[in-house]
Amino acid sequence: MSDKYFQKGFGLKAAVGPVLAQSYHSQVVDRLKELQHAARAGDMVLKLAREFGFCYGVDRAVEYAYETRERFPDRRLFLSGEIIHNPDVNGRLAGMGIQILPEAEEPGARYREVGAQDVVILPAFGVTVSELEHLRHKGCVLVDTTCGSVLNVWKNVHVYARDGFTAVIHGKHYHEETKATASQALTHPGGHYLCVKDRGEAEGVCSFIRGELGSAALLDRFRHAASPGFEPERDLARIGLANQTTMLMSESLEIQEMLRLAMQHRYGAADLAQRFRAFDTICSATQDRQDAVLKMLEEGGLDVMVVIGGYNSSNTQALARICAEKLPTFHIRGPEGIENAGIRHRPVGGHDEAVVSGWLPPGPVTVGLTAGASTPNNVVGEVVERILALRGLTTEDLNTA
Ligand code: SF4
Repeated sequence: MSDKYFQKGFGLKAAVGPVLAQSYHSQVVDRLKELQHAARAGDMVLKLAREFGFCYGVDRAVEYAYETRERFPDRRLFLSGEIIHNPDVNGRLAGMGIQILPEAEEPGARYREVGAQDVVILPAFGVTVSELEHLRHKGCVLVDTTCGSVLNVWKNVHVYARDGFTAVIHGKHYHEETKATASQALTHPGGHYLCVKDRGEAEGVCSFIRGELGSAALLDRFRHAASPGFEPERDLARIGLANQTTMLMSESLEIQEMLRLAMQHRYGAADLAQRFRAFDTICSATQDRQDAVLKMLEEGGLDVMVVIGGYNSSNTQALARICAEKLPTFHIRGPEGIENAGIRHRPVGGHDEAVVSGWLPPGPVTVGLTAGASTPNNVVGEVVERILALRGLTTEDLNTA
């Protein structure tokens, strides 16, 4: 192993385990699990999704950050952006003296104050190829926590670029992971990418492929989401699908099918294999969390759903979208979202926080709960405590539903 680049932990699990447990563990969540994810307290029933909260990639990244502090107690520690999209976790890391470097146009600007003696932690979503090169050139110590599922997407994008396929990425072009993934397409000569964030944008690309939309109009629409020098006629003649790992699974599959049909319409079924490829790169943790809320919704009986996670957490947003189609849903960042006056949340699809009073119907009520892959259990537990307190209840009142 290089003494400047670490990807596999420092073997300090035993040293950081107790502080991780103290920071992120929750007895309330343990109690809910013990009660088979459904508990009654007074006239309230709380149902917690079977899969929720920290995924394997986040677990590993956070542990690795704590190990890094332990391993390099005297060095300056930096993080390339938020390690994951959760304010509680990022706040705790900042409290350990780990400085979070905000995004910048150029790596030179973002890492200006980083020197060869410093340590930089790369987040679970990875960083762009140019950022990594920039940091390697600086000679600082790099602790790379990029999740294996993200690396898997990169591998597919590499193969696409190598074989002359443009990567069409279902993801948000401004999200760190999508930026990093897109940058992988450019490591091969002639490699290109185009990011589509939803069905609507995918339909725009399909219109172009079917010959209903001109190049100029397409470029106008995707100016910020396409690789430099993108030429639609040339670069959409052979495409390979990839995803940001945390998108809505059902939408990814739909987009894949829309593009497949558009390519078939344009080039014919016989030529399709030469022009269209797809891999399902939604990670299993994202899928498990989405499947778990779908199951809860299918089982029915919920009056209201509370989805916990950072507002900028894609997978939390996806969970909230799924729930909002079926019942009143509130995406909150954490316990501070539960106030006496109402619930402070970000409406699904909106940008601004709103406070809604009377969100908890009077009388018997069943509240569903889930949390994004970057939300630690302590945050989930505190939310439960606050919801119970609205009815004058405590966790002591939790019993079999
Ligand atoms: S959501 Fe998936 S890809 Fe992202 S860190 Fe978690 S396991 Fe890895």
